[in-house]
Amino acid sequence: VDLRLGHRVDHVDRLAKKVSGETSHGKHFSCDYRHLLFANGASPLVPHIPGIDYPGVKVLKNLFHGREIKEYLKTSGTGKALILGMGYIALEMAEALRARDIDVVLVKPRPKFLPWLHEQLASTVWQELEAQRVDLFPGYALKAIEKGGKGYKVICDQGEFEVDFILVAIGVEPNSQIAAQAGLELGPCQAISVDRTLRTSDPDIFAAGDCADTYHVVTGDKTWIPLALRANRAGWAVADNVTGADVSLPGIVGTAVFKVFDLEVAKTGLNSKEASEAGFEPQSVVIESRSRAHAHPGSQTIQIHMLGDQKTGKLLGVQMVGKEGVAHRINAPAVALHQQMTVEDFSQTDLAYAPPFSPVWDPLLTTANQLLKRM
Ligand SMILES: Cc1cc2nc3c(=O)[nH]c(=O)nc-3n(C[C@H](O)[C@H](O)[C@H](O)COP(=O)(O)OP(=O)(O)OC[C@H]3O[C@@H](n4cnc5c(N)ncnc54)[C@H](O)[C@@H]3O)c2cc1C
Repeated sequence: VDLRLGHRVDHVDRLAKKVSGETSHGKHFSCDYRHLLFANGASPLVPHIPGIDYPGVKVLKNLFHGREIKEYLKTSGTGKALILGMGYIALEMAEALRARDIDVVLVKPRPKFLPWLHEQLASTVWQELEAQRVDLFPGYALKAIEKGGKGYKVICDQGEFEVDFILVAIGVEPNSQIAAQAGLELGPCQAISVDRTLRTSDPDIFAAGDCADTYHVVTGDKTWIPLALRANRAGWAVADNVTGADVSLPGIVGTAVFKVFDLEVAKTGLNSKEASEAGFEPQSVVIESRSRAHAHPGSQTIQIHMLGDQKTGKLLGVQMVGKEGVAHRINAPAVALHQQMTVEDFSQTDLAYAPPFSPVWDPLLTTANQLLKRM
């Protein structure tokens, strides 16, 4: 492998089959290709507001950023931080900062907290954050950052915050500009459009990972969900296809999990809004069950939201929140979604039981049974 670190590609000439760019020393370089893979990821979104370039304003996309943040916290003696955004990176960073005894304020412009999560489950996450002394301000649009006191003054349309450190975590966008300039087709969210073999609209050019789109197994439509397994698997598939195999990937079901202090939050498949938009007739249920047999010490509440399609009986999605037994439990409905199972099929699956791990009826089976009654 001819590994060229410090080489930023900025142009692809599809006719000449050449990529070109600049090295970190400012030197122009170019390179021929027979097959080309775009695997250049995504970039953090950063709002264009006054003060966004101050040294105490950071993003977190890679290890370099992580080390930079650690160093800044240490040298600035940060006592209070503001995180812009309330997605999974923002929430994980809230926990990391609280662990360093830093006060944390979370701010986002839109009013709804975790809009993709059922509101009953989202409320549990909110309560956990409040219990950990994280202050949440949804519906606060950032206007400007000014130097003030020993740190910064963050000015929002609804109020102001004095903090020492600001993390911008409002999402990412696919790095598809070079591909677009080369005339390749783009898909949802401007990600590079690929088929199931990871080929772009040019059969000699592949794209994989956060820069590329994929198929959603539940809807059959294209989607863009930038997560690590999909990126890694797509990279392997490209390597196979370039070296002569014939690999075609079915796609994803949108499985994701993260930890917020003592809570595990997980999802797979569609939520109600996505299901309706995809043309399903979603019917859903929310139940509370336990992570272990009821009498077993340490048993914790698990909240589950499950959706099925009234027309076909198909399982459409599951969301879960709880202090244990959530993260790996989500994998069962993820497999069911890949297999296009109905809620009834899923309710008949033989899930494991022993008192330290589950009630006799696994919380997922109880939820499926309750959902069946509604359907
Ligand atoms: C803080 C954080 C936490 C995360 N946690 C999770 C998690 O828990 N679970 C999960 O599934 N996913 C998680 N993700 C997402 C996951 O990291 C990404 O989905 C995954 O890294 C995407 O891999 P990739 O190879 O497509 O892109 P990347 O890993 O971003 O790699 C892209 C590479 O392309 C290079 N590059 C970019 N532009 C150019 C150019 N013009 N020329 C040459 N090289 C270029 C970059 O330097 C980089 O090396 C997390 C992401 C972040 C930031």
